[in-house]
Amino acid sequence: MKIIVDRGRCTGIGICESVAEDYFEVADDGSLILHKELVDVRACPAKALTLDET
Ligand code: SF4
Repeated sequence: MKIIVDRGRCTGIGICESVAEDYFEVADDGSLILHKELVDVRACPAKALTLDET
């Protein structure tokens, strides 16, 4: 499954990075960088992360 980031919902606060820094990084401009595509997306409080099961 592939992680989909809804960048319109992502606030860039970085909770995903704090719980899975190998997967996520918030850049200096607040944009989210995905380092890996497989991760538990339930930690995102803004529900900006979903999985594409196709
Ligand atoms: S936890 Fe969610 S809202 Fe926060 S930076 Fe990560 S993807 Fe964006």
